[in-house]
Amino acid sequence: MIHANAMDVVTDDVFVALPYLSRHADVFLKVEGLNPAGSIKLKTAVGLVEDAERRGVLSVGVPLIESSSGNLGVALSCICAAKGYDFTCVVDPNTSESSIAHMRALGTEVVVVRKPDTNGGYLNTRIDYIREQLRRRPEMVWLNQYANPANPAAHHDRTARSLLDGLQHIDHLFVGAGSTGTFVGCATYLREHSPHTRIIAVDSVGSVTFGTASGPRRIPGLGASRRPELCRPALAHEVVHVAERDAIRECRRIARNTGLLVGGSTGSVLAAITAYEDRFRGGRPRVAAISPDLGDRYLRTVYDDNWVRAHFGEIGTEDPLVATAER
Ligand code: PMP
Repeated sequence: MIHANAMDVVTDDVFVALPYLSRHADVFLKVEGLNPAGSIKLKTAVGLVEDAERRGVLSVGVPLIESSSGNLGVALSCICAAKGYDFTCVVDPNTSESSIAHMRALGTEVVVVRKPDTNGGYLNTRIDYIREQLRRRPEMVWLNQYANPANPAAHHDRTARSLLDGLQHIDHLFVGAGSTGTFVGCATYLREHSPHTRIIAVDSVGSVTFGTASGPRRIPGLGASRRPELCRPALAHEVVHVAERDAIRECRRIARNTGLLVGGSTGSVLAAITAYEDRFRGGRPRVAAISPDLGDRYLRTVYDDNWVRAHFGEIGTEDPLVATAER
């Protein structure tokens, strides 16, 4: 297939069955990491940029600034390189080195803020930095993924539609929440088109998005140290908070059971599904889960035993962090 534009190559039709994960449910993973920018955030980035162009606030010569845990930054870098926009991305020490290198290779200026928030994350610091830049350079445009309705709209119109078209029937959807664009967009669409589907929002322990206590987090993608303006908690039937340790265990389990190397936030979503196993008994539900990215960006963190030991304590062969294949 020949594409006029690399950014048109959105892969919205890849689903993998995960029979190892549940005895009582049929689980399907929507794999988003095959997009050109390597994650689900390509759709967010296209949605944000096209909306800003339509509103007339963005054109060549107008500098763009955005805060990202990594993936939106890579996706915006791809689009800005293709369209000739000047892009500055504000990230933090949890952003993977490979995402930063990827952005720089595409010509983006990457700023890494280092001061942690009082809430254990870096989002407030990233946003304070952007506000300061906007004061100094008022010509800059901030698309603000945390408050911009074009973010959930992209997932309402594309991610959720392709999810329901691909799987036809979904009893439970497990979806991670960072900016909450994927969660809000998919939950809104499914409540319109598949009202029986139970929406389970997956967050990290230590995130304040759904009103729980703040704490340190190391895996980029899920969670926030300030509630994104977009978040509509009432759209979730339930919210599950997953410890990063459990997310790492599930990343390693899916790798060894299926050969699929997924990112840390996918591990959180899988851990949330395993916590539901008893509740799946009896009805054989069809369960959908969204995998935002693949694991190659996390080889030096989630999949590195030394990094895991340094941050989560010693792991022995008895420890669930050292996964063994199950069939
Ligand atoms: N997982 C990963 C790896 C991500 O990069 C993101 C985006 N921050 C998410 C999950 C959450 O997606 P959203 O911002 O749409 O809530």
